Amino acid sequence: MDKKTLRTQLKAKLATIDRPKYEQKSLHIATKLYSLPEWKEAEKIAITISNVPEVDTWQIIRKAWEQQKKVCVPKCLSDQKQLEFYELRAFTDLEKGFYGLYEPIKEAKKVSKDSIDIIIVPGLAFTYEGYRLGFGGGYYDRFLANFTKKTISLAFKEQLIDSLPIETFDIPVRTIVTEDQIIYV
Ligand code: ADP
Ligand code: MG
Repeated sequence: MDKKTLRTQLKAKLATIDRPKYEQKSLHIATKLYSLPEWKEAEKIAITISNVPEVDTWQIIRKAWEQQKKVCVPKCLSDQKQLEFYELRAFTDLEKGFYGLYEPIKEAKKVSKDSIDIIIVPGLAFTYEGYRLGFGGGYYDRFLANFTKKTISLAFKEQLIDSLPIETFDIPVRTIVTEDQIIYV
C-alpha cells in the first residue's frame, strides 16, 4: 500500500479511539517512557506538541520540567521543509504556527542539534524495524539524517504495522514505546 493510502487508513483507525481510551493509553505509554534509561539520562529532550489523536505529549513535557529536564519543541520552516528546535519553558510560550500546529514563539531560544539528548519523533505508523510513516512532509527524515543520538517514538499499538514502503531517505527510530511494549530496533 502506498504511503498516502496508509496515512488515510491510519487516521481513520486512530479516530475510533475514544477519549477515555486515548487518555489511558497515553498514560501507559508515558509511564513506560519514564522507565527507560534514555529518558532518565536525558537532560534535553526534543518533543512535539501533540494534537489528538497522536499520543499525548503535554503530560510528558510537564514531567520533564518536573524532573528539571530542558524541553525543546520544533518549528517547521515550510519553504525548505526543515525543522528548528527552540527551548520551551512554559506552555504560554507557544503560538499557532504552520499547519495550525503549536510552535514556539519568536522570542524562544534556539537550540543546537548537538545539544539534544533524545528526540521523541512523531509519526502516524511504525514498523517493528523502526521505520516510520510521517505526515508526509519528510521533515524528520531531513532533521534526523545527521542526528547521532537517541530517537524514540511513542505509538498506540494500533499504529504498529507489518510493512511500509521504505524510501532511501527514510530514517528509522531506535526505540518505539507502546502501551504494551518497548521495542528496541
Ligand atoms: P514522511 O516521512 O513525513 O512520512 P516521506 O517519507 O513521504 O514523508 O517524505 C516526504 C518527502 O520528503 C519525500 O518526497 C522526499 O523526497 C522528501 N525527503 C525526505 N527526506 C529527505 C532528505 N533527507 N532530503 C531531501 N528530501 C527529503
Ligand atoms: Mg519518511
